Amino acid sequence: MPGQGQGTRQGQGTGQGQGTGQGQGAGKGQGRGMGRGGRRLGQGGECVCPNCGNTIPHRLGVPCLDESCPQCGSNMSRQ
Ligand SMILES: [Zn+2]
Repeated sequence: MPGQGQGTRQGQGTGQGQGTGQGQGAGKGQGRGMGRGGRRLGQGGECVCPNCGNTIPHRLGVPCLDESCPQCGSNMSRQ
């Protein structure tokens, strides 16, 4: 039985090796960040105010109809 316990400790040593793999995972996280920027650049849409013609950059997850014009307060619409 004690011998089996030591075997488990050796397994933890292998886990440290996996820790190096986690470092690589952090690199993937940076890749995700770049992907977000690409989405913003990819959309490039704008919402236009039908009342005064003011335009604002379209935000992800926020429909233009839910945006309020910063100048006159009217609901924005898709350009
Ligand atoms: Zn407006």
